[in-house]
Amino acid sequence: MSCFTPSRRWQPAFYPFKKEKFGKRLLGRTELLIKGTLFGCRMCGNCLLQETAFMCPMECPKGMRNGPCGGTTPAKNCYIDESRKCIWYCIYKRAEKMGREEMLLEVLPPLDWEKVGTETWSEVVSLVRKTGTARFIRNIFTADKVKKSETWDSVFKTIRQPGWWQGDSDYHAPGYQEPLSELERRLRNGEFVVATEVTPPISANTDKLAKDIELVKPYVTAVNFTDSSSARPRMSSISCSKVAVDHSVEAVLQIAARDTTRTGLQADITGVNELGIFNVLCISGDSTKVGPSPLGPMNILDIDSVQMLWILRRMRDEGIYLDGRTMKNPPKMFLGAATSPFAAEPSLQAIKDQKKVNAGAQFFQTNLVFDADRLDPWLEQLDKRNVLNKVFILVGVTPLKSFKMAEYLHTKVPGVSLPDNILSRMKNAGEGAPEEGILIALNLIDSIKRKKGINGIHIMSLGWESVVKRIVTDSGLLRN
Ligand code: SF4
Repeated sequence: MSCFTPSRRWQPAFYPFKKEKFGKRLLGRTELLIKGTLFGCRMCGNCLLQETAFMCPMECPKGMRNGPCGGTTPAKNCYIDESRKCIWYCIYKRAEKMGREEMLLEVLPPLDWEKVGTETWSEVVSLVRKTGTARFIRNIFTADKVKKSETWDSVFKTIRQPGWWQGDSDYHAPGYQEPLSELERRLRNGEFVVATEVTPPISANTDKLAKDIELVKPYVTAVNFTDSSSARPRMSSISCSKVAVDHSVEAVLQIAARDTTRTGLQADITGVNELGIFNVLCISGDSTKVGPSPLGPMNILDIDSVQMLWILRRMRDEGIYLDGRTMKNPPKMFLGAATSPFAAEPSLQAIKDQKKVNAGAQFFQTNLVFDADRLDPWLEQLDKRNVLNKVFILVGVTPLKSFKMAEYLHTKVPGVSLPDNILSRMKNAGEGAPEEGILIALNLIDSIKRKKGINGIHIMSLGWESVVKRIVTDSGLLRN
């Protein structure tokens, strides 16, 4: 256990892929000994400690580098290893205590595996020399806060933000004028939109998929296709999206970081417009921990959802791949992200959400909401951060089918909780539970649509596609 990191280190330290010279190896071991003891450092070779309240985020099983994944348990433990606190929750809490919350907004790069396991101190020394050693020391002890932070950044920002990434804490408005999809057009027009989800099939036959798409078609603006949710393989989101396009239905392609590499992401995206896909939702994805046996790797993702957004936005607006190659005809995408409004305290959750918007998210689809008024503190925090005017929010609603389903969502799904009155309504409904579930969803939609900052709903029917018609019609959201 390190001195300052609050829980034990989950993974062993990284080691370099190639043998280095003796001097470098010695320096690396010394760095690991000191930084490991003090900060829980695991030698990722891309040090972020300045931005993470001096706690190493690599303790996270997924290796998340831009904030929590939304999977924290109610006790704020990690859902992959419930015996310990979510390291990102600890980082946020400490940053809040130290007054360093704004530093959490910087979009941080994925690992450069060339550097993983190697020391960074020689680079620090050479950058300090470049600034001027005496000047560096003088400035970091000055009372002038601006000078101090500029001097500090001249060394550490150069290390943490390599030329191929150039992450920052700023908002980057989309670099195009005309809406790219019907979903974007309607949202920009101020319409209260309805999107839904159609469950991808578990076989290679698409008849049922096509039937479900036709079933919801008259009632929604766009249809999401999940990317093997709960880490259970199903037909890919990209194939389902193509089927939707063939049925003249607008698709929202979901991409989970869990199964995505930087190479695969960029390759897939370069081809999606050709398939008629223009809405893309970037998510971290459920860990294989919640999936079926035998479990796949539960560790280090290549890229997280914030990094996916950053890469895709730059592909679209700057026409560049991550490796710096430029393209003549960049892909066009209306970019979205998932958010879980109740995964952390509203003030902390708003930081992660602002970061996603800064990175490139233009719309949010939220986790399931069962208490509309609980959205208010979160919306207030987003408003305080001036985020509400930069992103469209679609709130996740599901019609409950049974008390068992209500209990499952309440106790097993991170970031979802049901108020007592809904649980008891479902319990007392008996045979009439599906009807009660629909009435609860309609009540919720009624409250949600009155809220400032909410632009639509996302009906997660969880395989009950036939209910979409009733919900949209009875809630008065049917378009003429
Ligand atoms: S996997 Fe998610 S819940 Fe677990 S430590 Fe990482 S960010 Fe926190």
